[in-house]
Amino acid sequence: MNAKIKTINNKCCRMCESDKFFKVINLGYHPLVNSLIEKKKIKFKDPVFPIELKQCKKCKLVQLTKIIDAEEIYKNVDYLYFSSDMPSLKKYFKNYSLDLEKRFLKKNDLVVEIGCNDGIMLENFRRKYQILGVDPATNVVLRTLKKKIPAIPEFFTNNISYKISKEWGQAKLIYANNCIAHLNDLRDFMSGITNLLQKKGVFVFECNYWGGYGKKCKLFSNLS
Ligand SMILES: [Zn+2]
Repeated sequence: MNAKIKTINNKCCRMCESDKFFKVINLGYHPLVNSLIEKKKIKFKDPVFPIELKQCKKCKLVQLTKIIDAEEIYKNVDYLYFSSDMPSLKKYFKNYSLDLEKRFLKKNDLVVEIGCNDGIMLENFRRKYQILGVDPATNVVLRTLKKKIPAIPEFFTNNISYKISKEWGQAKLIYANNCIAHLNDLRDFMSGITNLLQKKGVFVFECNYWGGYGKKCKLFSNLS
Protein backbone atom coordinates (compact mmCIF):
# COMPACT_ATOMS: atom_id res chain seq x y z
CA MET A 1 0.00 0.00 0.00
CA ASN A 2 1.34 3.37 -1.00
CA ALA A 3 1.59 5.49 2.15
CA LYS A 4 1.51 8.67 0.06
CA ILE A 5 -2.08 8.32 -1.13
CA LYS A 6 -3.75 11.69 -0.74
CA THR A 7 -7.39 12.43 -0.16
CA ILE A 8 -9.17 14.90 -2.42
CA ASN A 9 -11.85 17.30 -1.20
CA ASN A 10 -15.19 16.43 -2.79
CA LYS A 11 -16.29 20.02 -3.35
CA CYS A 12 -19.30 19.59 -5.66
CA CYS A 13 -22.14 17.10 -5.43
CA ARG A 14 -21.47 14.00 -7.49
CA MET A 15 -25.00 14.07 -8.85
CA CYS A 16 -26.16 17.68 -9.26
CA GLU A 17 -22.88 19.66 -8.86
CA SER A 18 -24.27 21.85 -6.07
CA ASP A 19 -21.70 22.98 -3.50
CA LYS A 20 -24.14 23.24 -0.59
CA PHE A 21 -24.07 20.40 1.91
CA PHE A 22 -25.31 19.32 5.32
CA LYS A 23 -22.84 17.59 7.60
CA VAL A 24 -24.05 14.07 8.40
CA ILE A 25 -21.57 12.03 10.43
CA ASN A 26 -17.85 11.52 10.91
CA LEU A 27 -16.99 7.83 11.24
CA GLY A 28 -13.28 8.37 11.84
CA TYR A 29 -10.34 6.87 9.97
CA HIS A 30 -10.30 3.47 8.22
CA PRO A 31 -8.04 1.47 5.89
CA LEU A 32 -9.07 0.83 2.28
CA VAL A 33 -11.37 -2.13 1.58
CA ASN A 34 -10.20 -5.30 3.36
CA SER A 35 -6.70 -3.84 3.55
CA LEU A 36 -5.90 -5.00 7.08
CA ILE A 37 -2.47 -5.66 8.56
CA GLU A 38 -1.31 -9.23 9.16
CA LYS A 39 -0.76 -10.09 12.83
CA LYS A 40 3.02 -10.40 12.40
CA LYS A 41 3.16 -6.86 11.00
CA ILE A 42 0.98 -5.33 13.68
CA LYS A 43 3.59 -2.75 14.69
CA PHE A 44 3.49 -1.24 11.20
CA LYS A 45 0.62 1.06 10.40
CA ASP A 46 -1.29 0.89 7.14
CA PRO A 47 -2.58 4.20 5.82
CA VAL A 48 -6.06 5.10 6.99
CA PHE A 49 -8.53 7.51 5.43
CA PRO A 50 -11.42 9.61 6.72
CA ILE A 51 -14.99 8.41 6.33
CA GLU A 52 -16.95 11.58 6.75
CA LEU A 53 -20.40 11.89 5.23
CA LYS A 54 -22.29 14.91 3.99
CA GLN A 55 -25.63 15.36 2.25
CA CYS A 56 -26.27 17.59 -0.75
CA LYS A 57 -28.82 20.27 0.19
CA LYS A 58 -30.22 20.32 -3.33
CA CYS A 59 -30.61 16.68 -4.46
CA LYS A 60 -30.12 14.99 -1.04
CA LEU A 61 -27.44 12.56 -2.22
CA VAL A 62 -25.33 11.36 0.72
CA GLN A 63 -21.64 11.19 -0.14
CA LEU A 64 -18.09 11.30 1.20
CA THR A 65 -16.50 14.61 2.13
CA LYS A 66 -13.03 13.41 1.12
CA ILE A 67 -12.37 10.95 -1.67
CA ILE A 68 -9.41 8.97 -2.96
CA ASP A 69 -8.33 8.68 -6.57
CA ALA A 70 -10.03 5.49 -7.80
CA GLU A 71 -6.78 4.39 -9.48
CA GLU A 72 -5.32 3.98 -5.99
CA ILE A 73 -8.13 1.66 -4.93
CA TYR A 74 -8.57 -0.52 -8.01
CA LYS A 75 -5.50 -0.18 -10.18
CA ASN A 76 -2.33 0.52 -8.22
CA VAL A 77 -2.92 -2.29 -5.72
CA ASP A 78 -4.68 -5.65 -5.75
CA TYR A 79 -8.34 -5.20 -4.85
CA LEU A 80 -9.03 -7.42 -1.84
CA TYR A 81 -12.76 -8.06 -2.03
CA PHE A 82 -13.98 -11.11 -3.95
CA SER A 83 -17.75 -11.64 -3.97
CA SER A 84 -17.33 -15.43 -4.10
CA ASP A 85 -15.67 -15.31 -0.66
CA MET A 86 -19.13 -14.63 0.79
CA PRO A 87 -20.94 -18.01 0.65
CA SER A 88 -24.46 -16.60 1.03
CA LEU A 89 -24.08 -14.35 -2.01
CA LYS A 90 -24.15 -17.22 -4.51
CA LYS A 91 -27.75 -18.10 -3.69
CA TYR A 92 -28.75 -14.45 -3.48
CA PHE A 93 -27.36 -13.66 -6.95
CA LYS A 94 -28.89 -16.84 -8.40
CA ASN A 95 -32.40 -15.75 -7.35
CA TYR A 96 -31.75 -12.17 -8.42
CA SER A 97 -30.59 -13.37 -11.89
CA LEU A 98 -33.65 -15.59 -12.31
CA ASP A 99 -35.89 -12.65 -11.53
CA LEU A 100 -34.17 -10.39 -14.11
CA GLU A 101 -34.23 -13.19 -16.67
CA LYS A 102 -37.96 -13.76 -16.32
CA ARG A 103 -38.82 -10.09 -16.46
CA PHE A 104 -36.55 -8.70 -19.13
CA LEU A 105 -34.59 -11.17 -21.26
CA LYS A 106 -34.91 -13.18 -24.45
CA LYS A 107 -32.39 -15.73 -25.68
CA ASN A 108 -29.06 -14.28 -26.93
CA ASP A 109 -29.68 -10.80 -25.51
CA LEU A 110 -26.55 -8.99 -24.38
CA VAL A 111 -26.22 -8.70 -20.59
CA VAL A 112 -23.53 -6.38 -19.19
CA GLU A 113 -22.56 -6.21 -15.56
CA ILE A 114 -20.69 -3.17 -14.28
CA GLY A 115 -18.52 -3.95 -11.26
CA CYS A 116 -18.77 -7.67 -12.05
CA ASN A 117 -16.11 -8.59 -9.49
CA ASP A 118 -15.26 -12.31 -9.93
CA GLY A 119 -18.31 -13.06 -12.13
CA ILE A 120 -20.44 -14.56 -9.35
CA MET A 121 -23.70 -13.18 -10.78
CA LEU A 122 -22.80 -13.04 -14.46
CA GLU A 123 -22.20 -16.79 -14.62
CA ASN A 124 -25.94 -17.34 -14.07
CA PHE A 125 -26.60 -15.78 -17.48
CA ARG A 126 -23.93 -17.58 -19.47
CA ARG A 127 -26.03 -20.42 -20.93
CA LYS A 128 -28.69 -18.43 -22.74
CA TYR A 129 -27.27 -14.96 -23.21
CA GLN A 130 -24.22 -13.06 -24.38
CA ILE A 131 -22.45 -11.78 -21.29
CA LEU A 132 -19.80 -9.18 -20.61
CA GLY A 133 -18.36 -7.93 -17.32
CA VAL A 134 -16.66 -4.60 -16.69
CA ASP A 135 -14.62 -4.03 -13.55
CA PRO A 136 -11.60 -1.79 -12.91
CA ALA A 137 -9.81 -4.24 -10.58
CA THR A 138 -7.46 -6.14 -12.88
CA ASN A 139 -6.62 -8.89 -10.36
CA VAL A 140 -10.33 -9.59 -9.86
CA VAL A 141 -11.08 -9.59 -13.59
CA LEU A 142 -8.33 -12.16 -14.10
CA ARG A 143 -10.29 -14.49 -11.83
CA THR A 144 -13.47 -13.84 -13.86
CA LEU A 145 -11.60 -14.69 -17.07
CA LYS A 146 -10.43 -17.96 -15.50
CA LYS A 147 -14.10 -18.95 -15.33
CA LYS A 148 -14.28 -18.22 -19.07
CA ILE A 149 -16.54 -15.24 -18.48
CA PRO A 150 -15.60 -12.37 -20.81
CA ALA A 151 -14.69 -9.25 -18.85
CA ILE A 152 -12.65 -6.11 -19.32
CA PRO A 153 -10.46 -4.53 -16.59
CA GLU A 154 -11.66 -0.97 -17.02
CA PHE A 155 -13.71 1.68 -15.26
CA PHE A 156 -17.11 1.95 -16.93
CA THR A 157 -17.13 5.36 -18.61
CA ASN A 158 -18.93 6.96 -21.51
CA ASN A 159 -15.83 6.37 -23.60
CA ILE A 160 -15.72 2.64 -22.78
CA SER A 161 -19.44 2.33 -23.52
CA TYR A 162 -18.76 3.38 -27.13
CA LYS A 163 -16.03 0.78 -27.48
CA ILE A 164 -18.29 -1.96 -26.09
CA SER A 165 -21.29 -1.06 -28.27
CA LYS A 166 -19.07 -0.95 -31.37
CA GLU A 167 -17.84 -4.51 -30.81
CA TRP A 168 -20.75 -6.15 -29.00
CA GLY A 169 -23.81 -4.13 -29.95
CA GLN A 170 -26.24 -2.64 -27.46
CA ALA A 171 -27.29 -4.36 -24.27
CA LYS A 172 -30.80 -5.46 -23.31
CA LEU A 173 -29.84 -5.52 -19.66
CA ILE A 174 -27.15 -3.62 -17.80
CA TYR A 175 -26.88 -4.00 -14.07
CA ALA A 176 -24.56 -2.65 -11.37
CA ASN A 177 -24.59 -3.93 -7.80
CA ASN A 178 -23.17 -1.80 -5.02
CA CYS A 179 -20.66 0.05 -7.12
CA ILE A 180 -22.36 3.34 -7.96
CA ALA A 181 -21.58 4.76 -4.53
CA HIS A 182 -17.88 4.39 -5.40
CA LEU A 183 -18.11 6.64 -8.45
CA ASN A 184 -16.99 10.22 -8.58
CA ASP A 185 -18.40 11.08 -11.99
CA LEU A 186 -22.01 9.94 -12.01
CA ARG A 187 -22.89 11.99 -15.08
CA ASP A 188 -20.28 10.35 -17.27
CA PHE A 189 -21.36 6.94 -15.94
CA MET A 190 -25.02 7.56 -16.81
CA SER A 191 -24.13 8.85 -20.28
CA GLY A 192 -22.33 5.53 -20.81
CA ILE A 193 -25.43 3.59 -19.70
CA THR A 194 -27.65 5.59 -22.06
CA ASN A 195 -25.26 4.95 -24.91
CA LEU A 196 -24.88 1.20 -24.36
CA LEU A 197 -28.49 0.35 -23.61
CA GLN A 198 -31.01 -0.64 -26.30
CA LYS A 199 -34.03 1.64 -26.63
CA LYS A 200 -36.16 -0.84 -24.71
CA GLY A 201 -33.27 -1.99 -22.56
CA VAL A 202 -33.27 -2.01 -18.78
CA PHE A 203 -30.73 -0.68 -16.30
CA VAL A 204 -30.90 -2.17 -12.81
CA PHE A 205 -28.76 -1.01 -9.93
CA GLU A 206 -28.45 -1.97 -6.31
CA CYS A 207 -27.41 0.78 -3.96
CA ASN A 208 -27.59 1.81 -0.34
CA TYR A 209 -30.69 3.72 0.61
CA TRP A 210 -30.60 6.75 2.88
CA GLY A 211 -33.91 6.85 4.71
CA GLY A 212 -35.73 10.09 5.44
CA TYR A 213 -35.25 11.47 1.93
CA GLY A 214 -35.91 15.19 1.85
CA LYS A 215 -35.93 15.57 5.59
CA LYS A 216 -33.23 16.90 7.81
CA CYS A 217 -32.03 13.71 9.51
CA LYS A 218 -31.49 13.33 13.25
CA LEU A 219 -27.75 12.72 12.95
CA PHE A 220 -27.32 15.99 11.13
CA SER A 221 -29.35 17.82 13.73
CA ASN A 222 -26.98 16.55 16.41
CA LEU A 223 -23.84 17.58 14.58
CA SER A 224 -24.69 20.93 13.10
ZN1 LIG B 1 -26.70 17.13 -5.30
